[in-house]
Amino acid sequence: MPRRVDGIARKTLRMILEASRETHPNEFGAILKAEAGVIHELMLIPGTISGNRHMILQIHMMPADFSIVGTVHSHPNGIYAPSAEDLHFFNSFGGIHLIVGSPYTEDTWAAWRYTGERVPLRIIA
Ligand SMILES: [Zn+2]
Repeated sequence: MPRRVDGIARKTLRMILEASRETHPNEFGAILKAEAGVIHELMLIPGTISGNRHMILQIHMMPADFSIVGTVHSHPNGIYAPSAEDLHFFNSFGGIHLIVGSPYTEDTWAAWRYTGERVPLRIIA
């Protein structure tokens, strides 16, 4: 997943925050799709995202979709930094990964490169 991502559509971010609230206290997870560097679509897959090897297999068995740029999942404990398990998963997936923390507002999320560095993302109206 070499494509550069530098923004997220506000409606997509809101959808993520809302879904995370609805799923709380369980984790919400989805695949992120982008166009022209902007995340604009979610793809829901059953199961959880973080640290789930079965999920990686499922994703790798899907037909090649070059609009897939990474994943998003929620942390009901409110900490929106990746866990060791998350980093392991990110690394095998590549791309960019959003983590949203409870209480799931526009101030309680961050994007991370698969290597674990935080990535600034613009919110695009
Ligand atoms: Zn996590």
